[in-house]
Amino acid sequence: MKKTWTLNEVESLFGLPFFQLLFQAQKVHRLNFDPQQIQMSTLLSIKTGKCPEDCKYCPQSSRYKTGLKAERLLDIQNVIKAAKLAKKAGATRFCMGAAWKNPNKRDMPYLETMVKEVKALGLETCMTLGILDKQQAFQLADAGLDYYNHNLDTSPEFYESIITTRTYQDRLDTIDKVRQAGMKVCSGGIVGLGEKVTDRAALLVQLANLPQVPESIPINMLIKIKGTPLENNEDVDHFDFIRTIAVARIMMPMSFIRLSAGREDMNEQTQAMCFMAGANSIFYGCKLLTANNPAQEKDQILFNKLNINQKSTETNLTTQEQVETLEQAIMQIDTKQFYNAAIL
Ligand code: SF4
Repeated sequence: MKKTWTLNEVESLFGLPFFQLLFQAQKVHRLNFDPQQIQMSTLLSIKTGKCPEDCKYCPQSSRYKTGLKAERLLDIQNVIKAAKLAKKAGATRFCMGAAWKNPNKRDMPYLETMVKEVKALGLETCMTLGILDKQQAFQLADAGLDYYNHNLDTSPEFYESIITTRTYQDRLDTIDKVRQAGMKVCSGGIVGLGEKVTDRAALLVQLANLPQVPESIPINMLIKIKGTPLENNEDVDHFDFIRTIAVARIMMPMSFIRLSAGREDMNEQTQAMCFMAGANSIFYGCKLLTANNPAQEKDQILFNKLNINQKSTETNLTTQEQVETLEQAIMQIDTKQFYNAAIL
């Protein structure tokens, strides 16, 4: 049966001594994934800027003067070109993001064609387009969209300090529609918004306690962009970031935890510790929507140093099979290879 997490339990995890937390996260990680494999996604901004929403961290909001050049919706040929390049560079999933409150009805046929074309290249497809209504969710699913990204960003309690133009419930509703349409969910949050540790814990509680845990959990570190209201936020201590990854891994053992925005500011050692804490997915490529992302070459060098294979780690198992696999793995208590992290 799916575990329901309490805030107290999760705060206790955050409070563990660092190495104990990391050790526990590693054990959970190794029960479920090959620690030498990292899934790679590439993210392309298909429509940049002029977003009517007011997310305080985002340079794409029309409310902040960040000098970002707005771009119209990319034409399909350019998207396909970018997807081919991403595939050649080793990406297995191609994510397409548009700075919208929600997709417009007239854009839907275009988006559906985009999904079909990218999928035909043999890539998994993901989109992030804002709020979806039920019909749009089904249209995208019918076109073959594998994943829909819709982040919860932070705790319900802290949320209104960051976004006022859409509610937390709007986000949960979109995730629910994505599920109803049969797509996989990618949803995570951001560390460094000015939230407290309890907000980080509460965000992870929200994600882990969803009726179905997201298959993909991006954990972002705030990129402080000049012109946004959060440009002068305090830096996040990297150990606190690593802790967040480790706790997410323990709570959501079957999900891909994605080391997302903010990787550019991390040295190799910090990234390696994130992988050790259970991160097993990255964005790969030089642009993360509008912010910089480490060059592919740098990633290659780091992967070589860490003996990380560049092949997909996607599981073909259904959720039920995943749960059974975990249960079987947990049964192997006290063997040399496995340790029952669930009883700690
Ligand atoms: S995060 Fe997304 S919804 Fe919010 S302002 Fe940026 S593009 Fe718009």
